[in-house]
Amino acid sequence: MNYYSLNKQSPIVDFKEATIRGLAPDKGLYFPASIPKVDLSLIRNIENTSTEEIAFKVILPFVGNTIHPERLYEIVSETINFPIPLKQVNENIFSLELFHGPTLAFKDVGARFMSMCLGEFVKNGAAGNKKVVVLVATSGDTGGAVANGFYGQEGVDVVILYPSGKVSPVQEVQLTALGKNIHALKIKGSFDDCQAMVKEAFADTEINERLFLTSANSINVARWLPQQFYYFFAYKQWKEKDKPPVIAVPSGNFGNICAGMLAYCSGLPVKHFIAACNANDTVAQYLSKGIYEPRAVKHTYSNAMDVGDPSNFIRVMELFGEYKRIQEIATAYCISDEETLSTIKKVYGSQQYTLDPHGAVGYLALEKYLSVNPGLKGIFLETAHPVKFPEVVEEATGSKIKIPQHLEALMKQPKKATVTEADFSILKEYLMNLISP
Ligand SMILES: *Cc1c(COP(=O)(O)O)cnc(C)c1O
Repeated sequence: MNYYSLNKQSPIVDFKEATIRGLAPDKGLYFPASIPKVDLSLIRNIENTSTEEIAFKVILPFVGNTIHPERLYEIVSETINFPIPLKQVNENIFSLELFHGPTLAFKDVGARFMSMCLGEFVKNGAAGNKKVVVLVATSGDTGGAVANGFYGQEGVDVVILYPSGKVSPVQEVQLTALGKNIHALKIKGSFDDCQAMVKEAFADTEINERLFLTSANSINVARWLPQQFYYFFAYKQWKEKDKPPVIAVPSGNFGNICAGMLAYCSGLPVKHFIAACNANDTVAQYLSKGIYEPRAVKHTYSNAMDVGDPSNFIRVMELFGEYKRIQEIATAYCISDEETLSTIKKVYGSQQYTLDPHGAVGYLALEKYLSVNPGLKGIFLETAHPVKFPEVVEEATGSKIKIPQHLEALMKQPKKATVTEADFSILKEYLMNLISP
């Protein structure tokens, strides 16, 4: 598979190049040159096909010959070595639980897949003799998934910058308790300060002469493409195969929903997509008016979806060409914080099912769509474990959430972070010391 830059000013590359680079030299996102068609027999026999086999068949055309097929099979198997169950919540609504991975949010799948692919490429000399450093700024979730995904990955160091006092205790422990090749820098500043320091490092000639710096953010094709798996796994567990589900996706940067749409364009049966958004309504406005206008971020309970200019939406546009076609396949709903709270409360009360704030946005958006389209059934993606957002969830349900065992053990681990000022020269020295400590 070849990939071109959506800015159209860079050479075409293969999966390996696209993964190593992240962004194309012209700053465009990479996009597959063709949409592969999934085997009809895979769709027909999906119930009897293992998740490993499904994932392998879905990703193979995108990876091509850049990774040996046997190794690729191992990589996908390790990527998805936790359950992704579909649970019935009420008569018409099902929850696809994506939070059973190590950091309890769906970004685990993309981060694990990317880290193993990058590890493979580095092992085969892709970075020459430079040390490979994944540099990320995080406001919470992404950093944890990346840290976990790269933990112990040979030949790759990870440096994570996070704002002091602005990530939750669970998130902080996920960044700082690992050690080994994972280095946490606690910055006395805001997320924007962290982001600015990272940007400066990517532009610094001296650092880039000595280190092979790469990012692990959500626009990387190796993080984006494996998210297609969820939609195939959902269909595998869907009972009424002749009545495909409506699928509601809690959306922020629109990477996850775009992966679902890619799966749909490859031949996976889906009735309709719901872009479930919080108060950040850039895409909802676009779908109703046809004009795309980035907006300032609004802070909400579903904070992983607080995005005013979704970076992956340009891929949705590329996939469908024009906005009329996006309108046909997708409907957007914006859910307020009040609705998020009352939905968690309602579903807990009536079904004893605990939603997290992101899942609640997905649930309610789906319920709204089904109420005006009777006769349909659907799935919402439950993208995070409720324990990651205890304040909101416990306020809504009035009861304490049980911490999963493996997290409880992690919470007791010693935390290790280097605390520093928001000063680029300190980061630079830190990075230079990684090579010759
Ligand atoms: C990242 C994230 C989202 C949004 O996914 P996008 O691919 O950015 O649209 C939703 N829920 C949770 C819990 C997340 O971490």
